[in-house]
Amino acid sequence: MKLENMTETHPHLSVGGHWIAGVFTEDSPSRSAVTSPVTGAVVATVPSGTAADVDAAVAAARAALPGWSSWSPLSRAEALERMAAELTARNEEIAQAITAEIGVPISLSRAAQAALPPAVAVATAQIVSEIHWEQRIGDSLIVREPVGVVGAITPWNFPLQQTMTKLAPALLAGNTVVFKPAELAPLTAAILARAIEDAGIPAGVFNVVFGAGGVVGEALAAHPDVNMISFTGSTAAGKRVAVVASGTVKRVALELGGKSANIVLDGADLDAVAAHTLMNSWTNSGQACGAWTRLLVPSNLHDELVERLVAAAAEYSVGDPSDPAVRVGPLASEKQWERVNGYIKRGIADGATLAYGGPGRVEGLETGAFVRPTIFARVDPDSAIAQEEIFGPVLSVIAYDDVDQAVEIADSTMYGLTAAVFGPHNEAVAVARRLHVGQVYLNGAGLNMRAPFGGYKQSGNSREFGTFGIEEFTELKAIQLGEAQTGGVAL
Ligand code: NAD
Repeated sequence: MKLENMTETHPHLSVGGHWIAGVFTEDSPSRSAVTSPVTGAVVATVPSGTAADVDAAVAAARAALPGWSSWSPLSRAEALERMAAELTARNEEIAQAITAEIGVPISLSRAAQAALPPAVAVATAQIVSEIHWEQRIGDSLIVREPVGVVGAITPWNFPLQQTMTKLAPALLAGNTVVFKPAELAPLTAAILARAIEDAGIPAGVFNVVFGAGGVVGEALAAHPDVNMISFTGSTAAGKRVAVVASGTVKRVALELGGKSANIVLDGADLDAVAAHTLMNSWTNSGQACGAWTRLLVPSNLHDELVERLVAAAAEYSVGDPSDPAVRVGPLASEKQWERVNGYIKRGIADGATLAYGGPGRVEGLETGAFVRPTIFARVDPDSAIAQEEIFGPVLSVIAYDDVDQAVEIADSTMYGLTAAVFGPHNEAVAVARRLHVGQVYLNGAGLNMRAPFGGYKQSGNSREFGTFGIEEFTELKAIQLGEAQTGGVAL
C-alpha cells in the first residue's frame, strides 16, 4: 500500500521520527501504517526504523548513562513518581490510542491499559529503599550497579504496561533504555516519551526506535553496546532474540507465552469459578499471556460447571470498543482473527464439544476482527487447543479423575507462566506448590505488583515486579576491601 495516499483517522497520533536523545528525529520517509482492527482504516503512521537508527539511539543511551547512573536511587525514584503523574494526566490520550490501534474496549483501556503503568512506576519507586544497593559481607563490599544500556522489546497486547514493567525497574536501577515498541501498537511510545521529558528525566535516558522485530529488534539484540535485552513476546521470537544476543553474551531476560491452567478442586465455589474464569480468560479478548485458557475440573463436576460458564458468558457483549458498555472488542488484527478462528475450527475438528461461541464472523460486526468468545467442553488435554497458545477468547474445559492427574495435565504443556487453583485453602496451597509455574492465583486472588511475575520452562527465564524485577536490571560487584588482611590469593 502507498502510505502517502492514505487518510489517517487519528493523524494527531502519528509519529514523524524516532525519539532519540530527547528529540524526535527528522520525519522518516519509510513508514508503517497502524490500522484499526474495527474498520481496517489507517489510524496513524509511524517510522520504520533501521539498524542505523538503532546505532544512533544506543549512542544516545550510552552518552546519558554516566549522568543518570550517578543520580541517587532516591532521586531516580522521585523522577519515576513524576513520570507516573505525567502519565496519569494523559490517561484519556493513552486509552484512546490503545483502543484505536488494537481495539481494546475503552473502559478497559482507561481502567487497566492506561491506569496500570503509572501504578507500576509508583510501586517500583516506593520500594527503592528495600534494595541492598550496597552491603558488607565479611571483607567484601557488595555493590549493585546498573547493567548499562538496556534494549526493551515489547508485545502489543498491553503495550504501555509491558513497557513499564521493564522501564520503571531499569530506570530505577540507573540504566538507560532503547525501546522498540510492537508494530501493531506503537502509538503510546511517543506519549510516554513526552511524559518522561516532562518529568525532568534527562535526554537520552529513554529512547524509542519504531520498526519491525526482525530489523530493529534484532539490531538491538545483536548490538555490541547494548548490555541487556529485556524481551516480552512469543516464545518463538524470544528464542530468536536469545540466539542473536548470544554473540555478545549480553544478559537476556525473557517473558514469553503461556497456556495457564485453572484447577478446580472438590469443594470450590462453582459460581466464583465461572465468573473468575471468564473474566480472566476473555478480558482483552483473551489476548493476555497469563490468561487461564484451560479449566481443569473433576469429572463429576464437569457438566454442571460448563452450564454455569455458559450462563455467565451471556454477560460478555461483543461490540464496538469505543462503547463504554462493551466488554469484548475485536482481536488486535486480521492476522490474529485468522489464527484464533483457525484454532476454533481445529477444536471442533479434533472432537471437542462446542458449548458456546464458535467459528466465523460475528453477526453485525462482519468487517472487523471480531470473534465469538468460545467455550469448548470435554477437551482432550493433548489436543492442539489444549497445548498451544491461542491468544484469543477460547476456553478449554478438561475433565480429570484425581488431583495427581490434574497436576500432570496442568504441567503437560511447554509453558509454565501462571496457574490458578479454586478450592479449600490448604488443599489449594498444596496443589500450587506442585505446579511448575511462576505465579499461582488461589480462589480469585488479585495481582500483587510486589510479587515476582515470570515463567518456568518455555515461558521465560526472568522475573518482573517488586525488588525481584529491579534486581534483574543490576550487576553485582564485590570489592574485596583488604581490611581483614588475610593474605588470601585472588581466585
Ligand atoms: P511477538 O513475539 O510476535 O512480538 C513481540 C515483540 O518482539 C514485538 O515488538 C516484535 O516486533 C518483536 N520481535 C519479533 N521478532 C523479533 C526478532 N526476531 N528479534 C527481535 N524482536 C522481535 O509477540 P506478540 O504477538 O507481539 O505478543 C504476543 C506474545 O507475547 C504471546 O506469546 C504472549 O504470551 C506474549 N506475552 C508474554 C508476556 C509475559 O509477561 N510473559 C506478556 C505479554 C505477552
